[in-house]
Amino acid sequence: MASAPYTPSNPNNAGLPLWLLAELTYRCPLQCPYCSNPLDFATQGKELSTEQWVDVLQQARKMGAAQLGFSGGEPLARPDLSELIGEARQLGYYTNLITSGIGLTESKVERFKQAGLDHIQISFQASDETVNNALAGSRKAFANKLAMAKAVKAAGYPMVLNFVTHRHNIDNIDKIIELCIELEADFVELATCQFYGFAHLNRLGLLPTKAQLEKAEAVTNVYREKLQAAGNPCKLIFVTPDYYEERPKPCMNGWGNVFLTVTPDGTALPCHSARQLPIEFPNVKDHSLQEIWYDSFGFNHYRGDSWMQEPCRSCDEKDKDFGGCRCQAYMLTGDATAADPVCAKSDQHGKILAARAEAENADVTIDALTYRNEKTSKQCSDGQIIASDAATR
Ligand code: SF4
Ligand code: SF4
Repeated sequence: MASAPYTPSNPNNAGLPLWLLAELTYRCPLQCPYCSNPLDFATQGKELSTEQWVDVLQQARKMGAAQLGFSGGEPLARPDLSELIGEARQLGYYTNLITSGIGLTESKVERFKQAGLDHIQISFQASDETVNNALAGSRKAFANKLAMAKAVKAAGYPMVLNFVTHRHNIDNIDKIIELCIELEADFVELATCQFYGFAHLNRLGLLPTKAQLEKAEAVTNVYREKLQAAGNPCKLIFVTPDYYEERPKPCMNGWGNVFLTVTPDGTALPCHSARQLPIEFPNVKDHSLQEIWYDSFGFNHYRGDSWMQEPCRSCDEKDKDFGGCRCQAYMLTGDATAADPVCAKSDQHGKILAARAEAENADVTIDALTYRNEKTSKQCSDGQIIASDAATR
C-alpha cells in the first residue's frame, strides 16, 4: 500500500527555501588557507550520485527553490556537472556556478552554456601571479584563471570575479581592481575573508588590520568614482569582515528561513558552516526535503527566538540580526545559543577586540599558514592540528 503523502507541520512558520546551495564535492585541486569548507572535509561520507542530486533538485524546486548555486570544493571535479545544469534548467532554476576556474576549458564553458547555465563566478587569490599561486597551492592557477575569465566573457556571460582579501593581499587592492578592469569584469566582489573553516584556523595570519581595511575601502571608493566617470559599468562590491563591526550580520537571513545547503554526502544544513555545531542534521538519503526543512530538529533548532539568551532575548534588534551567526557564537564562546560576539552588547565582545589587537602585531607569513588539503584535513580530524589559541580564546 502506498504511504500517505507527507504533510509538513511547520511548527515555526518557516519561509520557503528559495536559495539552494548544492555543494557537489569537497574535492578541489587548490589549497586556499581561507577555504570555508569544514576542517574535517576529507573524512566526510561518500558523495551523492547523479540520481540523488537530481532528486534533491526536483524536491527543492517543488518546495519553491528558485536560485541554485553549484559549489564545492570545486564543482568542476564532478563529471556530471553538465547533466545537473541541464536538469536544473529544465526545472526552471536560475543557476550559478561558483568555481576557482581550475578544470574549466573553453569547450566546457560552451557545454555549460548549451545546458542552460545562467551565471559563472570565478575566484582569484591575488592580482599577482606569484602570490596567487602560492595561496592557491598551484603553479598554474593564475594563468588558468585568466584564460577562463576571458573564455567566460567571450561566451556571453557577465564576468563576475571574486577576490578573497586578507592581510597578505589587501594592500594591493588597486592592482586587483586594475586587473578586473583589464579583464572587463562586470561585477567584482572584493570580499574580506569571513572566519569559518580554514580561515578560522588561520585567523591570526589572515585578519587585516583596521588601517589596511580602511585604506582598501578608500581606494575602492576612488575606483568606483573613476569607473562611473568613465561610464564603465563594472560594479565593485566591497565586503568587510564582521570582526570590524559592532553588530553582527543577519546570518543567512535567519536560520532555516531562505537558505538550504546540501553537502556532498547529502547532509542538509541551514548554512554551509553549520555542520560544526553540536546538533544533529538530517541527510537527504534518509528524509525528504520537506521533512528536513519543516520538521527536522536541526532546521527548527534556532528558528524563532525562544532559544535566545540575554542580551538577545530582550533586545529590540533581534528581529533585525537574529542574534548573529550561530557558528561564530559557537566557535568563539563554545555556546551556540550565545549572542554572536561581534555584537558590542555581548559580554564576549572582548574576544573580537582581542582579535583586532592581535592583527596589529601579527607576523604570520604566507608559507606559515595551514593550507586546505586532504593531509591537513585529516590532521584536523584526528586532533594533530587545532585552531590556535589566538583563534579560539
Ligand atoms: S576556497 Fe580554494 S580550496 Fe576551498 S574550495 Fe574554493 S578553490 Fe578550493
Ligand atoms: S544583543 Fe543579540 S539581538 Fe541584540 S544586537 Fe546584539 S546580537 Fe543582535
